[in-house]
Amino acid sequence: MEEPNRKPVIKYTQLFINNEWVNSVSGKTFPTINPCTEEKICDVQEGDKMDVDLAVAAAKDAFKRGSAWRKMDASNRGRLLAKLADLMERDLKYLASLETLDNGKPYTDSIGDIEASIQTFRYYAGWADKITGQTIPVDGDFFTYTKHEPVGVCGQIIPWNYPVMMVAWKWGPALACGNTVVMKPAEQTPLTALYCGALIKEAGFPPGVVNIVTGYGPTAGAAVAEHLDVDKVAFTGSTEIGKVVMRAASESNMKRVSLELGGKSPFVIFQDADVDDAVQWAHSGIMNNHGQNCCAASRTFVHADIYDEFVAKSKTAAENRTIGDPWEAGTMQGPQIDEAQFKKIMEMIESGKQQGAKLECGGVRFGEKGYFIKPTVFSNATDEMRITKEEIFGPVQTIIKFTDVEEAIERANATTYGLAAGVYTKDINRAFTFADGLKGGNVWVNCYDVISPNQPFGGFKQSGHGRELGEYALKEYTEVKCVTIKIPQKNS
Ligand code: ADP
Repeated sequence: MEEPNRKPVIKYTQLFINNEWVNSVSGKTFPTINPCTEEKICDVQEGDKMDVDLAVAAAKDAFKRGSAWRKMDASNRGRLLAKLADLMERDLKYLASLETLDNGKPYTDSIGDIEASIQTFRYYAGWADKITGQTIPVDGDFFTYTKHEPVGVCGQIIPWNYPVMMVAWKWGPALACGNTVVMKPAEQTPLTALYCGALIKEAGFPPGVVNIVTGYGPTAGAAVAEHLDVDKVAFTGSTEIGKVVMRAASESNMKRVSLELGGKSPFVIFQDADVDDAVQWAHSGIMNNHGQNCCAASRTFVHADIYDEFVAKSKTAAENRTIGDPWEAGTMQGPQIDEAQFKKIMEMIESGKQQGAKLECGGVRFGEKGYFIKPTVFSNATDEMRITKEEIFGPVQTIIKFTDVEEAIERANATTYGLAAGVYTKDINRAFTFADGLKGGNVWVNCYDVISPNQPFGGFKQSGHGRELGEYALKEYTEVKCVTIKIPQKNS
């Protein structure tokens, strides 16, 4: 692997409004921290309600009837998205370096994330001029058609676990459909989203089409969710804040809401599994991205017949997982995102121990600086324990024993979440039974966490509302207008 740039120059730390870089109205800034060293990387402008007002005004103006963006051919919207993807490809290594610096994930993972983001923009570039309505044969001398119009100003609030990928998942469908955007990146990881703002301008998007306000959730984020001129809010983050956003949306102007929230996803592994392969899928399903993944396989249900072997092999996989300097080739795990997450995960690990689960390995900090936690495996976990019920969002595998098939479905579904699920079996009938019976927006059979831009992603129950990615995401970013015209005479 080519040596990464460990010290990427930070070019943008201001708010991006109307294709211009501006300071916050209050003049306040906030620090973004390197999770490997616990040291400040730089200060970033701290946007608040007043800045959100300015960004929303710019986005509203860009969406006005007759604006450059509204008059633009749909195919040209697609060309701009394709250009944005090309620019990201040009700057792939820089963006990946910035992502690793700000987020702490291994550089090779950052490269993978940016490549997936480029792929997402290309996918939605293709959709821009293929968003069509219907003609409908109503009774009488009328002609009826539907038009899928952009919703308008879209507020987008994103988390820190996949900073660039969340930008792509949000901007791709919003812009393909012709909306304008006010984005609030996570306060822990603002840098790559800001750089993408520079690429928006370079690609040639008209001013105001994309605006970025960095800042904190209860201030800048809340201002987006409450804003009367925001027509839709898309949020990815915790279920707790998802409820706050939904409430703010309904109490303000009933803006459209799409939510991609937490999970406690089950992965059910049967006795006929290829144990080594299943162990690997379950291991990466929970450990990828340091467990900071909303669809992480955080409840591993394993059939009693292979339970002991599975636990032993999972322990070995966790012990072999390389943790440390994310810039080193071969590192699989860097630090958790910040001190708050570090403490929360350590507290959950403590609860697992106290409630009687068996700590097979890990459970402790790695090194002395940075928010590193050793890959952790618990066996003998039961359904009532906190580690089985609550989202941990860390590198903690919880392995639970089961025997009965029907009971396994019931237990897998016994959660308020419903984001994802997996089953591993060679028996096709069992695979279908589980694919049907598990309550999750994504179900994986004999694999886990296989995601691409043309598959929908989202949750049942308290894991969310609506779907991201794929054709399904277009629905979240369009309003259907039904137009009926009186005509002189209908002919079939
Ligand atoms: P996490 O626990 O993963 O940090 P959060 O749900 O707290 O997830 O945060 C996800 C995003 O939501 C971040 O951009 C954060 O700033 C934002 N956020 C937090 N609180 C609020 C709020 N009250 N209103 C709107 N956005 C918020």
